[in-house]
Amino acid sequence: MTKVIAVTGASSGIGEATALRLARAGHQLVLGARREDRLADLAARIGDRAVFLRTDVRRRGDMAALVALAQERFGRLDVLVGNAGIGIVAPLDDLGVEGWEDMIDVNIKGFLYGVAAALPVFRAQGTGHFVTTLSTAGLKVVPGMAVYAGTKNAVRTMSEGLRQEAGAGLRVTTVSPGVTATDFVSSSIAAPEVRASYEAMAISPDAIARAVEFAIDQPADVDVNEIVVRPTAQG
Ligand code: NDP
Repeated sequence: MTKVIAVTGASSGIGEATALRLARAGHQLVLGARREDRLADLAARIGDRAVFLRTDVRRRGDMAALVALAQERFGRLDVLVGNAGIGIVAPLDDLGVEGWEDMIDVNIKGFLYGVAAALPVFRAQGTGHFVTTLSTAGLKVVPGMAVYAGTKNAVRTMSEGLRQEAGAGLRVTTVSPGVTATDFVSSSIAAPEVRASYEAMAISPDAIARAVEFAIDQPADVDVNEIVVRPTAQG
């Protein structure tokens, strides 16, 4: 069945791979991120079934506008893939308070603004699906990732609360990638030797996209709640 699927963080990496995979499967895509040129390029590659909107998930109004675009252009929203996220890897001793705040704003508030925008639409439709990208960093905390892991685990907890409140018709899935070959690894890990070891083991973003597709493709009464996808080489 063709679905209308909004993807945040669609301008690169896992979000881009997910949008491409879901478009190939025949779904209609609503693409959000801040880099509008990259969204335009992706939408052009997909064709008629994709629209895009510059979206900063830190702004509640932007998330509302993304969901409204889905309704305007395709008449509904079936799935919100909340994938936008940032990670800054550094020890707490560095006191990178601004970075802590950025991670809280994008990873936690961004998720909540997505819920605020989509939940009323899902309630009115009687169906809907939240798919949110978390991280294996939340499952195995390592030095330097305390705040990042904390934001992802905050959203893990909120997603479970959302699932319990959701009731029949609504589905809630979290997908926790391990090390994945995207800009995220190069932009978030400053230490060259650590970055090189991560890049060596990273799996393709399409591996995560396949997990998202699996959850979306289940029958309406089947709710896949948690998926973890790691490289075999990841400890
Ligand atoms: P990328 O850096 O390629 O993608 C991050 C995406 O998030 C970009 O599309 C970026 O778009 C978007 N984004 C960042 N800030 C905002 C914002 N304020 N508003 C809207 N969009 C924003 O990395 P990944 O694809 O790897 O990251 C996707 C998700 O996967 C993240 O949630 C990340 O935490 C998670 N993850 C990644 C892992 C990895 O190893 N790669 C491992 C575990 C989890 P733009 O800059 O255009 O706004």
